Formats: sequence, structure tokens, C-alpha cells
Amino acid sequence: MPAPSADRSAAAARRDRLRAALGAAHPGVDALLVTDLVNVRYLSGFTGSNGALLVWADAARGDRISTDGRYTVQVGEQAGDLPLVLARDVAGGLLAAATEAGGKRIGFEADAMSVGEFDRLAAVGGTELVRTSGMVEALREVKDHGEVDAIASACAVADRGLATILADGVIAPGRTERDVARTLEWAMYAAGAAAIAFETIVATGPNSAVPHHRPTDAVLRRGDLVKIDFGAVVDGYHSDMTRTFVLGAAQDWQREIYDVVADAAQAGRDAARAGARASDVDGAARRVIAAAGYGDNFVHGLGHGVGLQIHEAPSVGATAAGTLLDGAVVTVEPGVYLPGRGGVRIEDTVVVSDGPCRILTATDRTFTVLD
Ligand code: ZN
Ligand code: ZN
Repeated sequence: MPAPSADRSAAAARRDRLRAALGAAHPGVDALLVTDLVNVRYLSGFTGSNGALLVWADAARGDRISTDGRYTVQVGEQAGDLPLVLARDVAGGLLAAATEAGGKRIGFEADAMSVGEFDRLAAVGGTELVRTSGMVEALREVKDHGEVDAIASACAVADRGLATILADGVIAPGRTERDVARTLEWAMYAAGAAAIAFETIVATGPNSAVPHHRPTDAVLRRGDLVKIDFGAVVDGYHSDMTRTFVLGAAQDWQREIYDVVADAAQAGRDAARAGARASDVDGAARRVIAAAGYGDNFVHGLGHGVGLQIHEAPSVGATAAGTLLDGAVVTVEPGVYLPGRGGVRIEDTVVVSDGPCRILTATDRTFTVLD
């Protein structure tokens, strides 16, 4: 799977953006040692399971990538524009290379390193190690067109997977949560998923009141709320969607909380614009739920960023700092959970812009009773 050259130039442009950010946040730091594998992929295209990257503040000093002997062919295909430092201890190898090249102060990703790894790195000596946090994650918040396309493809795969099992009558009394989850996952693979974005949630009846219920052998019954939260991965990028159905016949309370959540989701999507404070976007949805008397039953944040990881920056919660940026991809996923009875969540993955957000998850979100 050679990376097309478009990917390579995108990765090079990202390294240039990182240089600028590094200079602004940490003046005097000569280079950043990138050890988070997702960040390594983002900045180089390399997808191996052992790798690190050295990005200099001064581009002229020449960025380098490191991996071990298992990946020499792959790294050449995916990141052939970067000189390779072959090492099993990739961070140590790059730090030694940085020292040799005259680097004095080298930043490292404090959130991506264990204490043991840090000790080994410190033992290399010859440089001052400077802790940094969230440098690459902040860049990843704003998606380029290729990234949005990949997330859109992942969302389309999830839409097709759900459409398949709906058409096949899989979400029906007598099936188990586990059965529905596995069938949906196979349908997503058949629709083109490279992987499942996270463990599929299928929660029926009272289990639907548990926000992150893991599928069990519980049997779907007529009259149940069935909440399904799932996603696919395409080209390394994730999708995230939740739909909630009623089986057979709906009771008034089910319809009532569904309508409240649907209104909250609409309010959240309406508020999700570039420049909006993340906490205000959460608040727009939360107000709708609180006004209906269910404020205590919306027990999580409104959403999160989606990209190379299923949960990434920005956070869209009541206490989230910061504003939504043009080009961010986030979920909007309000829920109302009534312990012991059932719950409803409606979740969509959307692209933030100056205008109305673009919804990438297309499955119908109107109240649906499955017969
Ligand atoms: Zn989800
Ligand atoms: Zn989510």
C-alpha cells in the first residue's frame, strides 16, 4: 500500500505547520521528538507499529523517521521522503541522531511516554529534554479535504452497514444484542470497512439506559428501545453514529424522550459553527433537555472530535475549553437515560464550518418503530 504522493506532500505540509507551532509555543526548542504512533502517521504517512519522528524547528536541518528492520520496505513506500534511522529503540535512536546533529534542547510528547521510556531517553544524555503536550493533536483538530473525504467514506460505510441489517430485519425481537452487533460489524466490512471503529454498542430495553453498554446475550423484545452506537474505519479515519429504535410498538414515554433528544441534537448541530465556544455548543443541546425536565438524565458531554482516533480533540462538553475551528470534525450526541427503563441517544458526525455544519452520517434520524 504505497502512499500516494499527495499523502506525502500533505504530511510534509503538516510538519511545516508543526514547526511554526513549535516555534511559537516553545521558542528555543530545536526539535520535537514525536513518539505517539497516531501523530507519527499524521506527520509522515507511516503506519507501522514501531516508529518515531524527529521534526526540527528549522526545516533545513532535515527531519528524520525511525523504525526497526521489520518495516524498512513499508517506511520506504509510505515515508520515503524522510531519511531513515534504523533502530529498535526508535526514540533513543532519533535522540542520539539529534544530539549528533547539534540539537541542544529536544521536545518530547509527555502524554505519549511512560516513565520507563522517559528514563531510557534521559539516559541517552547530551541534550535537555523539554516536555510538550498536545502540539500535534491541536494540528489534527482541523481536517484537510483528504481527511474529511476519508471520514465521509467511513460514515457512508456505517450508513450502508446499518441499512443492510435493517433491510434484513436483523433488529428484531428474539435476536440478542451480541448477534445484532456482530451482524452489523460484518455488514460494515462487506460495505468496505477496513476495521471497526470501536466495539459496537447494541443495548436493548433497560440496557439502553447505560450510555456505554457492552453487548450481551440479552434478547431484544417487543416494546424495547434499542440503541446502536457504531462506526467504521476507512483509510485510518473513523466514523461515529448512534441510532435508537423502538421494537414493535412505542410507549408514550419512549416517544417523549426521543423527541427531546432529537430536538437537542438539532440544537447542538445548529450551534456547531466555527468560532462557537465548545461549552456553548454543549449548552445549546443541554438546555433543550433540561427544559424538558431531563437535565439529570443527560450524563455525558455532547460530543468529541473524530479522525485518526475515535476520540480526539476537540472535546465538546460543558466544561470544555476553546472554540470550534473551521474544518473540525466532531460528534453531536445528546442522550436521555432513564435507569431501569431505557434510553435514547442520537449521534451524528459533522464537519464544522462558518455556515451550517455538514452532516456526514446520513441514516434517517426520525422516530422509527421497527415492525
Ligand atoms: Zn458513538
Ligand atoms: Zn461518539
